[in-house]
Amino acid sequence: VIQAPAQATRRSTREWQQADAAHFLHPFTDTAALAKKGARIITKAENIYLWDSEGHKILDGMSGLWCVNTGYSQPSLIEAANRQMKELPYYNAFFQTSTIPAIELAELLAQVTPPQFKHVFYGTSGSESNDTVVRLVRHYWALQGQPERQVIIARKNGYHGSTMAGASLSGMAYMHAQGGLPIPNITHIQQPFWYELGGDMSPDEFGKVAAGWLEERILEVGPEKVAAFIGEPIQGAGGVIIPPKTYWPEIQRICDKYGILLVSDEVICGFGRTGNWFGCETMGSKPDLMTFAKGVTAGYVPLGGVMVSDRVADVLIEKGGEFEHGYTYSGHPVACAVAVANIKLMQQQKLVEHVRDDVGPYLAQQFETLRDHPLVGEAVSCGLMGAIQLVKDKATRQFFPSSLEVGMVCRGHCFGNGLVMRAVGDRMVIAPPLIITRAQIDEMMTLIRRCLDLTLADVKAKGWL
Ligand code: PMP
Repeated sequence: VIQAPAQATRRSTREWQQADAAHFLHPFTDTAALAKKGARIITKAENIYLWDSEGHKILDGMSGLWCVNTGYSQPSLIEAANRQMKELPYYNAFFQTSTIPAIELAELLAQVTPPQFKHVFYGTSGSESNDTVVRLVRHYWALQGQPERQVIIARKNGYHGSTMAGASLSGMAYMHAQGGLPIPNITHIQQPFWYELGGDMSPDEFGKVAAGWLEERILEVGPEKVAAFIGEPIQGAGGVIIPPKTYWPEIQRICDKYGILLVSDEVICGFGRTGNWFGCETMGSKPDLMTFAKGVTAGYVPLGGVMVSDRVADVLIEKGGEFEHGYTYSGHPVACAVAVANIKLMQQQKLVEHVRDDVGPYLAQQFETLRDHPLVGEAVSCGLMGAIQLVKDKATRQFFPSSLEVGMVCRGHCFGNGLVMRAVGDRMVIAPPLIITRAQIDEMMTLIRRCLDLTLADVKAKGWL
């Protein structure tokens, strides 16, 4: 138990919870249910650990919300924000003006992204960046004299955000049901989830079949009407669905065949998560546009954007005139200064190499050992993102009925035992900060095993197995 910071001790936990319930509508949350239970008040963080207002220490296996890649309390990021706040806390990029951090970051992004990218369009979040993509690809095709290319193909159980366009690109029916989505000309194909959909096929066979669904949809829609395909290299919020290695090269081949723009949503996979700077490098695609957010600033301040390849940028710049789009905070100097410091820190500490050569393979090795557990259907990882599928029958790959919410039982044990692990249905997902050490992975694995055992005991006691 550690000393809680001063702001936390001004009121008791119960009082903070009451004020929270009275005034704060949380994202993706059942407000009434949370009010009954009371939110956990997080008051402090360091390295890969969080503390709540009761002094409990929690290992953050989710890097906040997949974003605190360089860990909490990095002095160089805090100093960069502080320095920039004092010097120039804000200026816009609309009035034929620019700021030094926004320029520096654009230069740095061109360096760390694949070679086809030299330009960036800034926003403040993943959702906004994907909204930019929708307008940008349609604008691109209009400039190319093909304004009928409007349709964007995305995937079921993909996640691209929560704004009107972001939620439309996302393939979650329960999101579309609220607010009359999707917006026109967005269509979804099935996801490349071998464990659920692969049947008797080998993963590699299935990867090609799943990519083939893109070609089928292109032909149904009419290739002359398709503007772009968007996907996450590895679906994050959908449950860390790692596609077979045949999937992305085949997607690339199909996009090339029909001249369709390929958009890689790197909001989670970007900035080292998969053991390369960007997930498309790990998965083998060469996108025309890449959206990013989260890890660019390690979540310390909001920043997102779209990397625009030469194929698109050349048309925009040469034929485009004005692109009628942008945000007050496009290129926010404080956010950009933090991002510059964060990327430099990643370079100095060789964090991408650390994930690729050391802790990524080590995590994969540790996850292998979970496969013996009676509840674990598959335990897979790539770099520092991983998933554990809880199942009723391993031999037949049979899931539990979703109404039992076995994943939530497991998640409850994780929170109770000092580990943040997220449940996506019955898929338990982790994405710890990239600075994690082997010893900390051992600590996390001990907690994971304990929580799986506790979940197994519950499942048995309830007669669900
Ligand atoms: N794309 C992906 C792949 C994401 O995971 C997320 C957020 N989890 C978003 C977009 C949306 O980002 P934001 O919440 O910053 O709007």
